[in-house]
This record gives sequence, C-alpha cells and structure tokens, in this order.
Amino acid sequence: ASRSAAAVARELLAVAREAISVEAERLGDLDAIAGDGDHGVGMLRGLTAASDAAGRADAEAGVDTVLEAAGDAWAETAGGTSGALWGGALVSLGASLAAAPDLDAEHVGAAIRAARERIESLGGAQPGDKTMLDAIAPFESAFARAAGDGGDVRRALSAGAAAARQAADATADLSPRRGRARPLAERSVGHPDPGAVSFTVVVDAVERRMRQ
Ligand code: ADP
Ligand code: MG
Ligand code: MG
Repeated sequence: ASRSAAAVARELLAVAREAISVEAERLGDLDAIAGDGDHGVGMLRGLTAASDAAGRADAEAGVDTVLEAAGDAWAETAGGTSGALWGGALVSLGASLAAAPDLDAEHVGAAIRAARERIESLGGAQPGDKTMLDAIAPFESAFARAAGDGGDVRRALSAGAAAARQAADATADLSPRRGRARPLAERSVGHPDPGAVSFTVVVDAVERRMRQ
C-alpha cells in the first residue's frame, strides 16, 4: 500500500533536517561573507522545529495540516528571513498538495509553483536578486519540463535537483539586491547565495530519499 502524503512529508522533513545538520557550519560560513553568519543555525533550528511539529501532528492528519504545523513552527523558531519564507512555502505546498486530485508529477509541480509564488509574495524578491529564488525557480522549471515530458515525480525531482545545483553555483556571479547581503554586495560576488545553496541541500536529500 502506498503511504499517505502526510507520512511522506513527515519523513522528508526528518531527512532534510539531517542533511542540513551536516552542512550547517558551511552554510553559516557562507552567510558570514556578506550576511550575519546565522544561516546554518537558523535552517537547523527551523527544520528541527518543523520536523518535531510534523511528528506531533495527529497520525490521521492530512498533508495540509502537517505542513501547516511544520511551516508555522519553522517561521516562528528560525528567527531569520529564510525561516519566514520557508515556513510560508511549506504552508502553501501543503494546501496545494491537499487540494490536488492525485499526486502525479503535474500536481506536485503545481504545488511547487504555489510555494515559489508564496516566497515571492512574502519576500518581494525576483529571480536575479541573488536569493534562494535563484535556485528555486530553475528547480521549478526543470521539474515542470520533466513532468510535461511524461516523467514521474522521481524523475522530475532528479531533473529539478540537477538544475538547482547548477543554478545555486551560478549565483556566485550575481550581486545581491535583497536581504541582509545587499549592503555588502561587492563582498558577496564570487560566492554563492547561502539560501540558494541550502535549498539544494534540502532538495538533494529529498531526491536521494525518493529514489530509494
Ligand atoms: P537573515 O538574512 O535574516 O539572517 P538567513 O541567514 O537565514 O536570514 O537567510 C538568508 C537567505 O535568505 C539569503 O541567502 C537568501 O537566499 C534568502 N533571502 C533573504 N531575503 C530574501 C527575500 N526577500 N526573498 C527571498 N529570499 C531571501
Ligand atoms: Mg543570516
Ligand atoms: Mg539573521
């Protein structure tokens, strides 16, 4: 029997938390170049709270309830810009997944789009501003392309993760136009955006787990 979307969401949050804990120091160092150096601890704190909240949700709860609890906990606990954005994104992701008639690649792709739109409306940034969106938008596009070509969720995730990795690396060439790194923009050039890199850490971990 296939597991419920809520159970998958719970497991993937735990997987993401584990992956971020391994990379937290590197993410903090990256954020210290032009930001305040807290991106690693913030992501770890937020994801730990999110994963714990998802675990506490009722066993029968739907994916919307689980991801709303997780997203709210992330936003409240992380205490940074990225936490508020990730938190809002999870709430939108869950609402969209819960409303979908089934969780094929097309509908999962639509939920990813809703999450990205939420990040744009909350943070006011666009691709090109050197934020997490510079990894998320290419992830979304590659996912949708693979889904349109008839790929299943796993295949679309693999295509999306590969695009996100490449795009996160390419943020090194950009100059920040949003967030805390903007005043120190020239220091940031030559280094990738911390939030774009942490997005690839999460997506890579999710993609690996879904392939198992
Ligand atoms: P803070 O900047 O509050 O310390 P973090 O260090 O946790 O928060 O997160 C920094 C990351 O957040 C940046 O690298 C960038 O990817 C992302 N970010 C910052 N501002 C925005 C924004 N307005 N829209 C989208 N992403 C943003
Ligand atoms: Mg920071
Ligand atoms: Mg901070």
